[in-house]
Amino acid sequence: MSTSAHHLQSLLEEKTGRKLKIKINDNRSTMVSVRWDPGCTKVSLHRIFLEAPKNVMEELACYIKDKREISPLVKSYIQEGLNRVDYSETVDANALETTGQVYDLLSLYQKVEEKYFPTPLGLRITWFGKRKPTPSASLVLGQYQRLLQLIRIHRVLDRKDVPQEVLEYVIYHEMVHHIHLPKITVGGRSAVHHDEFKRQERAFHGFDEIQQWIRKERGRFFQGRKNGWS
Ligand SMILES: [Zn+2]
Repeated sequence: MSTSAHHLQSLLEEKTGRKLKIKINDNRSTMVSVRWDPGCTKVSLHRIFLEAPKNVMEELACYIKDKREISPLVKSYIQEGLNRVDYSETVDANALETTGQVYDLLSLYQKVEEKYFPTPLGLRITWFGKRKPTPSASLVLGQYQRLLQLIRIHRVLDRKDVPQEVLEYVIYHEMVHHIHLPKITVGGRSAVHHDEFKRQERAFHGFDEIQQWIRKERGRFFQGRKNGWS
């Protein structure tokens, strides 16, 4: 165990009054996991907790001690931490497909970035899904994977009858996700499309017309399925 992990363990043992076994992890899926075994509580923490401020550690200790819900403060610390930890190096650049049959995502991305973002964001982009998805496929037109700094655009949009502005808008929407982290509400839920997000999203040229187009044409992509914008 490293010195810092050891320090974290003594600190949390002192605050919880329990015997703990702390493991520091570096994976994306487990930020905090606790097993309340009799005799020894096993805690796996992401490495972002090695530099957590005092108040976050206090509330984390309360969670470990009383098996309460993870507090909003700890949740937002995790959210912020996720943004700091950069896993983008783990994306296999060869697996990214930017050339479609109609649209080239890379050049659209560059165009949007140049027009709307004074400082380049340096995100990656790829197509995903099938141009003619099976009815059971989940249809999300765009996605931003923060940890990978990767925008994914569904291939259903790679069609001549989808205006280029719509593609640009979907890419822009995902870029705005990069700028605006989800907010943790008082109840501890995560709000993604919050007011600040929406304000910046509306700055897209022709926003209203594009929204109208999407509302009208959505059925073509979704065939009655639930809204899949993300
Ligand atoms: Zn979204």
